[in-house]
Amino acid sequence: MNVSILGATGSIGTQTLDVVRTCLPAAQVRVLTGYGNIPLLAEFVEEFTPDLVWVPDGARADSLTEILRSKGVKPEILTGEDGLVTCAEYNQADVVVNALVGKAGLAPTLAAIKAGKDIALANKESLVTAGGLIMRLAREQGVRVVPIDSEHSAILQCLQGATGGRLSEGFTGNAVEKIILTASGGPFRTWPKERIEKATAADALRHPNWAMGSKITVDSATLMNKGLELIEALWLFDQPMANVEIIVHPQSIIHSMVRFVDGSVIAQLGLPDMRLPILYALAGPARVSNSYPRLDFLTAGDLTFEAPDTERFPCLALARHASIVGGTLPAVMNTVNEWAVGRFLADKIGFYGISELIAEAFSSYTVHEVNGLSDIREAEDWAMEFVHKMR
Ligand code: NAD
Ligand code: MG
Repeated sequence: MNVSILGATGSIGTQTLDVVRTCLPAAQVRVLTGYGNIPLLAEFVEEFTPDLVWVPDGARADSLTEILRSKGVKPEILTGEDGLVTCAEYNQADVVVNALVGKAGLAPTLAAIKAGKDIALANKESLVTAGGLIMRLAREQGVRVVPIDSEHSAILQCLQGATGGRLSEGFTGNAVEKIILTASGGPFRTWPKERIEKATAADALRHPNWAMGSKITVDSATLMNKGLELIEALWLFDQPMANVEIIVHPQSIIHSMVRFVDGSVIAQLGLPDMRLPILYALAGPARVSNSYPRLDFLTAGDLTFEAPDTERFPCLALARHASIVGGTLPAVMNTVNEWAVGRFLADKIGFYGISELIAEAFSSYTVHEVNGLSDIREAEDWAMEFVHKMR
């Protein structure tokens, strides 16, 4: 297997490299991309010796070259948005892991699919903004879009498990009655609204079960993450909204479930460890043995379930609305959310400032159809102008 890893220095990227190191000795890493953490990228380049490496600009390319000189490794180094697309298309790779965060992930996703690469997709924002384009293109190119997100990996495993692994991704036939997407509920699950109102970035970054990048951790606190995942599930598994139910399950042991038309439910369980869905995305439906920690039912404690509260967590309802309206509205939501999360992390706006900004954007935006990437870009540009006016 020849693999390119976009966003190698992030939470998912680093864990993907750990999966390659510990479970997939035959895999060749062909491309690595980083962004801010050049020393870490240099360490990975030394260890995995990719052909191509990407950093955003010339200054960071120079500092990477400088560090690599002492290590005696000399990959080709690309920069700029075009360079990232070139990395996604690189002809020596069979599979591209997209572990980029936010809207930067879309162009590389489309480029990789156009180049006929299978995609192991962590960058859910791609599917949220352009799910229709991505899935159509993937069908035309005959490539697989395999989720890394733990819930969607769980759903895929339930579907593939139900048919002895013979189902291809996205195929659910008519045997599925309901996809049950689980949510941890985030760090503010039990907080009253008055307390959530005053929550700080530091509070939001204390996720009870998962250690992740800062953007998705805030998305988990607002439940926007579950909203994005709802849209992601609709595209990946070709389901109507009515067939997807969201259930809060604070222990994050059941990663999601599928109920079939006979009433039988298949669930996928495991410890909250992203290396498992990453491994499944790269090697599934085969099972690869490993020495990662195991779930022990006798010490796991109770598994509990509750309904999500869209009054305290309005982002979930906003995402549902964006999905129902469709067109370019999810792209506007995603851009405004990404910007607002950045402002919240910088302590410039409050927790509910995120959902308020998205709701205001919705009421001043005229939705368009999505026929190509340019429609998404226009919606994103509108959203950036909108947030700058609101500052
Ligand atoms: P992260 O912030 O830890 O890492 C993001 C990576 O993208 C880093 O390598 C960073 O250098 C790079 N990057 C950032 N901005 C960039 C830009 N403008 N251009 C190019 N590269 C850029 O994020 P993460 O937590 O690893 O999440 C990555 C994706 O995976 C997100 O879409 C997230 O929703 C999804 N995801 C993450 C987890 C998790 O456990 N971390 C779980 C499920 C899904
Ligand atoms: Mg998830």
